[in-house]
Amino acid sequence: MVYICVRPMKHIHTIEYTIIEHYNELDPADQKLIDLAYSAAKNAYAPYSNFHVGASVLLTSGEIFLGNNQENIAYPSGLCAERVALFHVGATHPEGIIDTLVVVAKGNLIKPEECVSPCGACRQVIAESENRQKSPIRLILVAQNGRTFVFDKATDLLVFPFGMS
Ligand SMILES: [Zn+2]
Repeated sequence: MVYICVRPMKHIHTIEYTIIEHYNELDPADQKLIDLAYSAAKNAYAPYSNFHVGASVLLTSGEIFLGNNQENIAYPSGLCAERVALFHVGATHPEGIIDTLVVVAKGNLIKPEECVSPCGACRQVIAESENRQKSPIRLILVAQNGRTFVFDKATDLLVFPFGMS
């Protein structure tokens, strides 16, 4: 008789990110991306949540795509700003390599100092975009008071994405 001893092993996952007190400390190119995301947020269709989210996507080619949340009276039919922007890239530039994704918001759903972090569904989509292009996507998440969180790769926000672990 052979006994196989399988001992549980604990694993530790760590992530690194940078917090900047205000996005005006970032370099001008990043500030421009943030300003564009705020301009996109103004066009959000958010009559139900009144929470206006904007996203900007910078490709390595230098092209920039924008998105904002698009709500619907049938709530699940709406879509988040991040996915609107990423799917626009996928639909029009399927070979495009995403360098940076910025997310900003305005509204009372979260406190001014809280990080505007993508929902779980968006994290899955961002992670697959990163996996698809085989290079990291930098994330810049801006709180409403200007505090900014920078992640060097999207998968830091989703440890075990579906289908990619
Ligand atoms: Zn989302």
